[in-house]
Amino acid sequence: MYIVSFLLSLISPQKSASAENPESYTLLREQMVKEQIANRGVKDERVLKAMRSVPRHLFVPKSSRSISYQDRPLPIGEGQTISQPYIVAYMTEALNLKPKDRVLEIGTGSGYQAAILAELAKEVYTIELVPILGNRASKLLDEMGYKNIFVKVGDGYKGWPDKAPFDAVIVTCAPDKIPKALIDQLKEGGRVIIPVGSQFRAQKLIRGVKKNGRLVTQDVMSVLFVPMVEGENK
Ligand code: SAH
Repeated sequence: MYIVSFLLSLISPQKSASAENPESYTLLREQMVKEQIANRGVKDERVLKAMRSVPRHLFVPKSSRSISYQDRPLPIGEGQTISQPYIVAYMTEALNLKPKDRVLEIGTGSGYQAAILAELAKEVYTIELVPILGNRASKLLDEMGYKNIFVKVGDGYKGWPDKAPFDAVIVTCAPDKIPKALIDQLKEGGRVIIPVGSQFRAQKLIRGVKKNGRLVTQDVMSVLFVPMVEGENK
């Protein structure tokens, strides 16, 4: 399956952009936003602007840069993936972020989703279980000049209690059910977007809003994320 999509990627027109020319990456981003994101119904102008401006190719291994704007997830090492651009945009729009908001992300991975969130919110707190990935993302985001993203290596099931409560929570790996700590750390009126389900069944992407201390949820689409791994103390 992966081999087929890789071969397809070689004959895709996007491949024609010169790998190290920043202008060609700008064009690829424009094309990505128009064809994969706006055309599929993402409307929030601030989200579209963020997707146009964050250089996704810097978040993937060098050998994948030329295919980094294609309509698919890509491997980032350690058996993990950077999500498909449309899913990143859709989940971001679902959080309805305001410039003063503080957001919690579980599953830093490459750091790409955190960078998109940081364009729209005041502060982003992001937790990654795998140290190699968390440390690499933290270094890259620092080098890119993001001052409002805080990366922690740790277990996302616990959330980040000393920075709570959050205006929004986004989870980019799939637990079997919504972890209670994450609901507890959400403000009244806060929004959550999270894939729920086992790795081997269809997972549901769930959007929730906290009302009167309880999460009111709605299934929004079927998705496929890597599992949310249970940390040692769970
Ligand atoms: N948001 C990422 C994509 C992440 S893939 C991006 O933009 O690139 C999901 C990530 O969740 C993986 O890196 C995986 O290591 C991490 N993960 C899995 N279980 C976790 C847990 N319990 N706590 C924190 N991170 C976890």
